[in-house]
Amino acid sequence: MTQETKNSILIIGGGLIGLSIAYEFARNNFKVLVLSKNRNESAGFVAAGMLATHAEGLEDELLKFGQESQILIPKWIKSIEQDSSIKCGLKQCGIVVPFKKEADLKEFPTYKYGKYLDQKDLQTEINGINPIWECGLLFEQDGQIDNRRRLMRALERACSLHGVQFQEGSEVKDLIVEKNKITGAKVLCATGEVKRINCEKAILCSGAWSKKIFNKIPVFPVKGQMLSIQGPTHFLRRVIFGPKTYLVPRDDGLIVVGATVEKDSKFNQGNTPKGIKKLQEGILSLLPEAINWPQMEHWWGFRPCTPDLQPILGKSEIENLFLATGHYRNGVLFSAITSNLLFKLVQNKSLKETEKNFLKKFSLDRFKI
Ligand SMILES: Cc1cc2nc3c(=O)[nH]c(=O)nc-3n(C[C@H](O)[C@H](O)[C@H](O)COP(=O)(O)OP(=O)(O)OC[C@H]3O[C@@H](n4cnc5c(N)ncnc54)[C@H](O)[C@@H]3O)c2cc1C
Repeated sequence: MTQETKNSILIIGGGLIGLSIAYEFARNNFKVLVLSKNRNESAGFVAAGMLATHAEGLEDELLKFGQESQILIPKWIKSIEQDSSIKCGLKQCGIVVPFKKEADLKEFPTYKYGKYLDQKDLQTEINGINPIWECGLLFEQDGQIDNRRRLMRALERACSLHGVQFQEGSEVKDLIVEKNKITGAKVLCATGEVKRINCEKAILCSGAWSKKIFNKIPVFPVKGQMLSIQGPTHFLRRVIFGPKTYLVPRDDGLIVVGATVEKDSKFNQGNTPKGIKKLQEGILSLLPEAINWPQMEHWWGFRPCTPDLQPILGKSEIENLFLATGHYRNGVLFSAITSNLLFKLVQNKSLKETEKNFLKKFSLDRFKI
């Protein structure tokens, strides 16, 4: 094993959460090294980019976490855009959740945050929506970011310009822990060489793969398959969030269609005929005429899921090893608040009561028996 110099903050995983945290530290003049096994497999390049705090029907602390993040996002994105010179496609376009029965609508967890739409309103909001939907809720406060084509690249560029060092193709095989303190990581490099990388503090942000590095983290992959179709520009203004499928319209008429939720997928790669069929059925059920629009791409990825579907954030039992993983279906939404919170925690800065509550609620300790 060869020896490398010390780095102030070591980020393990260069996906959406890793980049968001790296950016936060780097713009505050920290020396940051990001070890990334494979940037292209990151769920950050897969997600639909919805900021769907209310449309997802989040509840309790998770709802507050999403709402707080939505407050931070505009300023955070502006800073990334200014630093990177890349527009991220942030839009508060509103998300419509359609229902077949009024009773279902009234039971929706975030019902009180939405605007009620009867069938006529629904058809005004969503040109061409399937008449099987009787009513809907419009969450005007929800929106989207173009993570796949813009945000991830913007973050990478902003990080680089702030001096973040990236080691792509570097897989952390083991954490090196001495006297309950992380002192480094054993890394398999793209060259096949195994190196020791020293560190003062590390943050584990390895998404769906986190358990492979730190066995105590109960994160597992939930595969999602996606495709995109090209619609007429501005045909769809709002996101439609159906029970099984959603349609996310970008400004250029591209519509991102997602996503399957495959809980037993393990890390099985690739799109499947069954997965694509489900998405096509979803398109038909929401917006029938869109089934004739040209399909552009299809792709897949792995959501980092935990047993209670909530993230794992904060300290670990190893001193100087911090955790930011398990963001499941809402990592894009939660990226701003996660980076902000982790920066404060690692720096021992004073935290607001709400922030303390988040750390308590999302601590790894909740899984201890
Ligand atoms: C189909 C789908 C649709 C989604 N849609 C939305 C949405 O609309 N809105 C929303 O808010 N969220 C959405 N998400 C969720 C969001 O994408 C994730 O929560 C988020 O990307 C998680 O970020 P992460 O950095 O933890 O993981 P990732 O972005 O997956 O990054 C993890 C990175 O860690 C690296 N890594 C793993 N192991 C190692 C190792 N040993 N050494 C070094 N590096 C390692 C990986 O190579 C990877 O690049 C969606 C996810 C999927 C899959």
